[in-house]
Amino acid sequence: MGRIRTRILFETQKTRVYRRSRPSVRGFCACCGRDVTLLSPSAAANLLSENAARIYFLMDTNKVHYCGDADGTPLICLVSLSTI
Ligand SMILES: [Zn+2]
Repeated sequence: MGRIRTRILFETQKTRVYRRSRPSVRGFCACCGRDVTLLSPSAAANLLSENAARIYFLMDTNKVHYCGDADGTPLICLVSLSTI
């Protein structure tokens, strides 16, 4: 008697939602003590040709100035970014 094979296929679908946010805004940097251009982490990564992980590393090690916008998204000071 032969073996009976049953083949089960699953189809999956992923949906990715990308939030559109302004890549830069003007805002006050407490470290610089003045209004500066503030960048989103992705915009900062693009500017430095780095990935977002590197930007978060720079933030964690206080190599760049950053603050949060109204919804908690970090914004990075362009002045401090220019010293990297
Ligand atoms: Zn600053």
